[in-house]
Amino acid sequence: MQFKNPNTKNWQKLKKISKSNRCHICHYALNKTGVYIWDTNKKDCTGLKCFNCLTIYSPKFDILEMGIPRTVGYA
Ligand SMILES: [Zn+2]
Repeated sequence: MQFKNPNTKNWQKLKKISKSNRCHICHYALNKTGVYIWDTNKKDCTGLKCFNCLTIYSPKFDILEMGIPRTVGYA
């Protein structure tokens, strides 16, 4: 399977998010850990997934699916 450059509105939003944001859960830069989620039915990007903690973000940068919760550090 080949991942073609989708160049949709959602993809552009997600690209911006990944360039300038860090993951809320694991605090890794999303330009390092983010992978685009491609919906073959909609033929569009529906989200950005942080492969470090598996959290999925929407194009509005809302959390769609929580990844691995890191409870360490909240004293
Ligand atoms: Zn993360």
